[in-house]
Amino acid sequence: MTRLEARNIYRTQKDISILSNVSLPLQTGKLTCLIGPNGAGKSTLLRTMCGLDRPTSGEVLLNEQPIQFLSHRERARLIGYLPQSRPLAWPIPVRDAVALGRFAYGARPEKLSPKDAQAVDQAIHDCGLTALQHRATNTLSGGELSRVHLARAFAGEAPVLIADEPLSALDPKHQLRVMNLFRDYTAKGGTACVVLHDISIAAQFACELVWMKSGKILASGPPQETLTSVHMETVFEVQAEISDGRLRDLSL
Ligand code: ADP
Ligand code: MG
Repeated sequence: MTRLEARNIYRTQKDISILSNVSLPLQTGKLTCLIGPNGAGKSTLLRTMCGLDRPTSGEVLLNEQPIQFLSHRERARLIGYLPQSRPLAWPIPVRDAVALGRFAYGARPEKLSPKDAQAVDQAIHDCGLTALQHRATNTLSGGELSRVHLARAFAGEAPVLIADEPLSALDPKHQLRVMNLFRDYTAKGGTACVVLHDISIAAQFACELVWMKSGKILASGPPQETLTSVHMETVFEVQAEISDGRLRDLSL
């Protein structure tokens, strides 16, 4: 069982507070959805939880150990990360891009062990990329490329997955397919934390909604408890009509 927890994280950049006293113990085997307006600090928090950004104060614990004590390889084996911006400079085949997810196991795209190859094939299948696996990544649409990056993250088979806006650029069918992948992943014991902008989808799939604004967590809890018109107004500054735990209408 792998536990990831942010404790009392502060981050300031040029005297501007970006994260302020953020604590987030990820619930093991659950899907946590981080929601909040642009600039709330969601990506910064995720990068900090992966050990990629150092907090100004506070700590991130991975299995009770400060995350900076682990090697890059150990971290990569324990945490799969899908960043929000995903540059891919080279026109490499889709399958090789997905195989990069096995790098932490010493794999190289042209030299995969049977276990690596199986994980890569599974991720390609799960992300609906089978027909595209021999295409060059620079010939894909934005949504297709987005699924390649997601498949790379899943191929690592890490016990924790952190995904920053995994649904961006995806059509409705693929949005639901990807959310089902996260659901299956957590049902098998994986711990996932994803940033979503679609509140309806977040409420439908999340075990825990974490509401962020201006570098702070304003509320967290199951959608049934925290999806309220008050939170929609304080966090997103929109008027929301909610009934039976579902978002019915949004207006300014
Ligand atoms: P979100 O993902 O919620 O949209 P971010 O975590 O990307 O927000 O950014 C939070 C805030 O921190 C934003 O206002 C952003 O402009 C600011 N920020 C992030 N990184 C830096 C940086 N390196 N220097 C200055 N400001 C930054
Ligand atoms: Mg972001």
